[in-house]
Amino acid sequence: MNLKMFLYLFAISLSLPSFGQDVPQDYFKSPLDIPLLLSGTFGELRSNHFHAGMDIKTKGTTGLSVHASAEGYVGRIKIQHGGYGKALYIYHPNGYQSVYAHLDNFSPEIEKLVKEQQYQKESYEIELFPEESDLKVSQGETIAYSGNSGSSGGPHLHFEIRDYQSKPMNPFLFGFEEIEDSQKPNVFALHSYAIGEDSHVNGSSGRKQLKLIQKNNGDFMTETIKVHGDIGFGIEVTDRLDLSYNKNGVYSIKTKLNGRPIFENTFDKFSFYETRYINRLIDFEFYKTEKRKIHKLFVEPNNPLSVYTDAYNRGVVNVFKDSLNQQFEIEVSDYKGNTQSITIPIESDYREGIEPNTQKETEYLAKSDAASVFEEGKIDIYIPKNALYEDTYLDIKIEGLTVDLHTYTTPLHKSVTIGFDVSQYSPEDQTKLYIAQVNPWGGQYYVSTYKKKDRLTTRTNQFGSYALFEDSTPPSIKPKNFKDKQWVSNFRYLELEITDEETGIDSYRATVNGKFILMEYDYKTNTLIYDFNDDKISNTKNELKVVVTDKVGNTSIFEAEFSRKN
Ligand SMILES: [Zn+2]
Repeated sequence: MNLKMFLYLFAISLSLPSFGQDVPQDYFKSPLDIPLLLSGTFGELRSNHFHAGMDIKTKGTTGLSVHASAEGYVGRIKIQHGGYGKALYIYHPNGYQSVYAHLDNFSPEIEKLVKEQQYQKESYEIELFPEESDLKVSQGETIAYSGNSGSSGGPHLHFEIRDYQSKPMNPFLFGFEEIEDSQKPNVFALHSYAIGEDSHVNGSSGRKQLKLIQKNNGDFMTETIKVHGDIGFGIEVTDRLDLSYNKNGVYSIKTKLNGRPIFENTFDKFSFYETRYINRLIDFEFYKTEKRKIHKLFVEPNNPLSVYTDAYNRGVVNVFKDSLNQQFEIEVSDYKGNTQSITIPIESDYREGIEPNTQKETEYLAKSDAASVFEEGKIDIYIPKNALYEDTYLDIKIEGLTVDLHTYTTPLHKSVTIGFDVSQYSPEDQTKLYIAQVNPWGGQYYVSTYKKKDRLTTRTNQFGSYALFEDSTPPSIKPKNFKDKQWVSNFRYLELEITDEETGIDSYRATVNGKFILMEYDYKTNTLIYDFNDDKISNTKNELKVVVTDKVGNTSIFEAEFSRKN
């Protein structure tokens, strides 16, 4: 092999991500015509999940043309009230998929197919898997228009690339080099954790924030910390790209002890089934109480996340009585390689009488590797195996039909079941009952309630207080842009406002002259919208009927008459 060839191969091996998968370069093009500015990056720490794609800014507006990032066919279309809202999935011949979410609507050809299916199934929420021959697309073809649908908090395009196993991958791995980032990640806090029973950092057990000192070259260091036992670290960090002010996630965090790599967390890809383990990666209690996310730089038991690519001793530092001085280093990088480093000098300091960081014992010990059942009075609780990351003494208080189930600051990986015996209520009263989670700061909200004989159950993945409530108030339905008996000949849309104060909207159905019409429901604005372009109304005089049901089954019916010249 000549030198040129060697250098070429060497350069290729450097450009490949660490998991060694052949990632096609510049195969995918930007799905928008405007410059790529991001408000979210891959792997960003969100609530109960890692962000699975990149969020592309759409100038604060909706309706921008969205193009197929590469050739392929539309293999999946999903429309839901929450989540991704209106979403398109393109399957590419090389096995990858690209995903476009929170869309406003689709290109005319796709829109036609979707509406046909919605009318046939009489449902706004729908999921379709078209055949390969149905909707072939070429690269750059307009497939949809950007929007703010689903759980989107503002107009943007959520764009994802998934591999052949449907695992989301970091889009930056595929190119998109036009996205500029010349700034280092912004580290704004560093924390130490005394992990072992007799461990301490500067005399403290548990978590302690360390003061960062910035050196002249911009790097950070701390004063020498005096420690004993098993310790770890955690940081609070975000990254800013050039030309946008949003606080995004970082790409990679590495740590070294005395120059030896001991931990690496890189966001190249992950699986959807593991995304909830984010609650094990962050300091969950700190997040719940402080609304800040500490990224832990050590891997605790029951954390199988695949984003850790290297961990010696799980990132934990052991400091013994006779340990020499050590140096811990953290390097945080964005995808462009801008790196912020932090150095922590460590000195061994054995101390007697450190208050161990142990749990308060209660009569309700729930093991992480076994299921537990607790029952008292009219309430029973089932906690499945692996719902907890650690064996935990639960704090449970049951009073009548209210249960304080431990604390919202402890994470639950799986749902627990809470059952209420409601035999003291008459069958008629029972139909109005529901289970709600009661916030520590007041207010309650409905949680999915299942009814069977004299028993109400809910499944929840959050600890907290739960109690029984009664909802006998039906939903409210009001016309938004028309009145009864109005002429609406030149209207494009018919809009209604539907709300339900207690349990929320479960279902709705609209008909005109007895025939189903499709109304899109935007839960963020409580609006039901009919589009006259659907062309389903041919009579001059029309009877509109809208039926809305809440989650315990209270139903309201709205009727109005409108006229149209055809
Ligand atoms: Zn997104």
